[in-house]
Amino acid sequence: NKFELLGLEERLVKAIEDMGFETPSEVQEKAIPVLLTEESDLVALAQTGTGKTAAFGFPLIQRVDASNKATQGLILSPTRELCLQITNELKNYSKYVKGLNVVAVYGGANIQEQARQVKRGAQIIVATPGRMQDMMRRGLVDIRKIDYCILDEADEMLNMGFYEDITNILADTPEYKSTWLFSATMPKEVSVIAKKFMTEPIEITV
Ligand code: AMP
Repeated sequence: NKFELLGLEERLVKAIEDMGFETPSEVQEKAIPVLLTEESDLVALAQTGTGKTAAFGFPLIQRVDASNKATQGLILSPTRELCLQITNELKNYSKYVKGLNVVAVYGGANIQEQARQVKRGAQIIVATPGRMQDMMRRGLVDIRKIDYCILDEADEMLNMGFYEDITNILADTPEYKSTWLFSATMPKEVSVIAKKFMTEPIEITV
């Protein structure tokens, strides 16, 4: 199996086979081996539809400790739709990983219900920036010990005016963590974020 050759564990490869993925896409081939083994930050230029969710999702799932209930990974995404889509994909990818919980945190839905899901133990949180900040202010999430932060569709998030939210959220995360930024385009605003929050990121373009 070509996914196994990238370094993915058997329980993830099994889920990949269930989904019918046969060959890794280009962004997966480039990102997965790096993200599985390096502590470095990463900037990936990749459009929607290239398989980027799996490119960061599989390494993240493999690297978090499912036996520890603390939040270890945070994925920020621009919209509620994308947030739910990523959450569903990650749940599929991790179906054979016992004890791993992926929780979606997004606006326009009951915040207490989302808080309950987080409280039960969410190793991975997939969030939109506004609701995430709201949950942080109310003390309903704790991202002070995360190891991984993923900024998905960074250009879209900045277009939508989330610069300040992203800055505030990242300010509450540890200095030593890995940040993986995915963006379809690289306007100045995205490079500013990359410069401000990342250290010598590895760069991938597809
Ligand atoms: P994304 O770019 O992450 O939005 O993914 C686009 C779609 O491609 C999603 O529906 C994935 O389930 C699917 N996909 C991702 N990786 C692969 C792959 N290696 N082979 C086939 N389909 C894939």
